This record gives sequence, structure tokens and C-alpha cells, in this order.
Amino acid sequence: MLIKITPDKTKHLIQNVINEFSTFALFQELIIFALLHIIRFILMTKFSGFIPSKLPSIGTSIFATMSQLANEHKAINLSQGFPDFDCSDKLKELVHHYIKKGFNQYAPMPGIMPLREIIAEKTEFCYGAKFNPNTEITVTAGATEALYAAISAFVREGDEVIVFEPAYDSYVPAILLNGGTPIYGSLSGKDFRINWDETQKMVNQRTRMIIINSPHNPTGSTLSAEDMKRLEKITKNTNIIILSDEVYEHIIFDKKEHQSICRFPKLAERSLVVSSFGKTFHTTGWKMGYVLAPENLTSEFRKSHQFVVFAVNTPIQYAVADFLKERDSYVNLPDFYQQKRDYFINAVKGSRFNLVPSSGTYFQLLDYSRISMEKEEDFAIRLTKEYKVAAIPVSVFYHGKTENNILRFCFAKGEETMDKAAEILCGI
Ligand code: PMP
Repeated sequence: MLIKITPDKTKHLIQNVINEFSTFALFQELIIFALLHIIRFILMTKFSGFIPSKLPSIGTSIFATMSQLANEHKAINLSQGFPDFDCSDKLKELVHHYIKKGFNQYAPMPGIMPLREIIAEKTEFCYGAKFNPNTEITVTAGATEALYAAISAFVREGDEVIVFEPAYDSYVPAILLNGGTPIYGSLSGKDFRINWDETQKMVNQRTRMIIINSPHNPTGSTLSAEDMKRLEKITKNTNIIILSDEVYEHIIFDKKEHQSICRFPKLAERSLVVSSFGKTFHTTGWKMGYVLAPENLTSEFRKSHQFVVFAVNTPIQYAVADFLKERDSYVNLPDFYQQKRDYFINAVKGSRFNLVPSSGTYFQLLDYSRISMEKEEDFAIRLTKEYKVAAIPVSVFYHGKTENNILRFCFAKGEETMDKAAEILCGI
């Protein structure tokens, strides 16, 4: 049979082919679309586990490592930076009282007013400086939170922050997490002083912050009035903020006066001053501290603080506010710890360790270069395992693990503990 191909039929045929083809193309597109979604779904739900670390060089802290080692080897633990004695019974009773009275809900974001008021009074009594409790004082969850909130409030991507090494271990991770760049100065000489000429050269347009710490962990050094004058000169005509870690403000020896930033109005106007009741009241586990700063800095600080922790333990704030009314609680602290420092240094005098003078904090550095030239971490581990005394290698407070043959010992311990440790150290 002959099929007659008419123009109409041809047109129809072509139309059919096009329709078939486009249905097929549409079908193909649908399959590709579905496959892509399935792959995406699989990729999204399957956790690869490879998330690049924001802090690649930070591992388990040496403090945890040394304490664990001390436990394993039943060593006397002078590595831990906290007292082995209890806080005042009165303070404990006050906390108990406020818990029982029902002060158990959120506190106001900046801290309860009675505590901020008594902090203002204490600051004026100690340093002659006035801070407004309403706008210039914030209660924090320990100094650690204060330091983090301060750094996150002010340090941006690309900002430089000057840190002096050996440095307390929380500064640099907080700078890095907020995109800043730590610029390292070093504390030099036997008394671990800041080299201000070197510091001056480190300052530039990108410098956002300088962090200082006095009395200083781990070295026990303290800043003098002269140091503060140099800092004033360096920061003059700049937009640099100072973060002053003064958690050991009341642990200072030999009748030295603590040179708080608060004493220097030109520095105070650009500073956040951090303190901790953990150190002052032997309550490190309560994580209670505060920040003093002028209103403009405080309002920025609080923006960060309210999203890090919002508010701080309510009953403890009320208890501390009452307890602070008795000035003895901090006025007698220098003598209390000086007696402990002297006890410890007398006990280890006959050893082959060399004492590095400590003028504040509850830490004493001992130089072991007459005993060994091992690396600090190795020596600290051997001291714990073989001799049963645990201490902290100072090299861990440097980003480049600088070696000085020095270990940090904590003397916030009872006399019996110090006697036992000293006996061992004298026999090495
Ligand atoms: N800064 C320094 C220098 C410290 O030694 C410590 C405690 N080890 C802190 C801050 C943290 O204090 P807090 O326990 O109040 O968070």
C-alpha cells in the first residue's frame, strides 16, 4: 500500500517526533534532577568527620595532663593552680542562705546591683578610682568569660593583639577564634619584665588591643608604676584598647602596692580591668569575676557578655556582695599568701633548684638547670613519675615552646603538702 505523503501528514509526523523527543528530554532532565538531589541528600546527611579545626595547634591542656599524671603516679600535685584548702565557712553559709531563701532564678545581665555597688566601693577603697555600678561594672562567670567576652567584643578579623609571653593560656585561643592575630612580645630577664622599646616597635595601625597581666601567671612578676607610665606613652594618640588581667590583684608580696590600671586615669579610659573572686576567696570552682571599664567600652562588652553567658550565678552573687562588706576578706590576703610563699621557699632553699623571685600570685618558679638540661615537659613528666611531685613546664606558656629550664609550682597548699614536696625536691 502506498502511503501518500501530504504536506499535512509530514507536519504532523514532525510534530509527533518533537513531542516524543521533548517528553524524553523532559524525562531525562527529571532523572538528572532527582539524581542530583539524591546525591546532595546523601552528602548532606553523611557526616564526613573532616571539619577543619579553628584551633589546629591546641591540644589537651598541660594542666589536665599533669594532674592526670599526678593521679596515676600518686604524686604531690603542685601543678594545679588552685588552693587545696577550703573557703570561709561564713561565705558558704551565705550561699546556703540565699539558695534557701529562693534566690535561684536568673540574675540581671550585668550582675545584681548590691554586688556591683560593693565592687565600686572596693575599687575606690583600693585604688581611689570611681566606677559607676550602673554603667561601668559587669559581673562575669569568672575571669575566663570576662577575657573571652572582651576579646570577642573588640577584636575583628585582621586586628593585631599584643600578648606578652609566657602568657596565660586563654588569651591566644580567644584572639584566634575571633579572627585576630596575636603579636608576641616576650618578658625578659630573670624578673620577667616587659621590654617597652620592643613593644613600641610592635604597635601599628592594626593594633587593636594590648593584654597585660599583673601579678603574672606563670612567673609571679608584677608591673611597676613606671611600667604603667610606659604603657601610657605607647598608647597615647592611638585607638588601642588595654585588657588588664588583674585576677591576682590581692596576692602581692613584700608590701608592694598593686599597680592596677584603675590608678592611671589615662590608661583606665581605654581599658577593661578583669578580676576574679575565685582567687580572692579561694573559690576557683565558683567561676565568679567582674570587669571594670568606662561606659562606652562596658556597653560594647555587655553586648558580647549577654550572648556568651547572659547572667551569672544568682545566690553566689548575693553571698559575695555581703561577704565583700568585710574588707578583711581581701585586705589580709597578701600576708596570708606571703606566709605561704616564704614557707615554700624556705623549705626548698637547700635544694639544687634555683629560686626565681615571685612578687605576686600563688606560683613559685624553680630553675632546674643545676640538675638537668632536659626539656621542661620531659623534666616535669620525669619529676612526676620518678619523684612524685607534679609541676607545670613554663614552656607551655609560649607559642613556640621556649625553653628556660623552669617549672611552675603552686604554693596555695597546706604546710604538710609543701613539706612533703620540699623534702623530695631537696633530695634531687
Ligand atoms: N587569668 C589568669 C592569669 C589566671 O591565672 C586565671 C585562673 N587560672 C584566670 C585568668 C581565670 O580565672 P577564673 O577562674 O576566674 O576564670
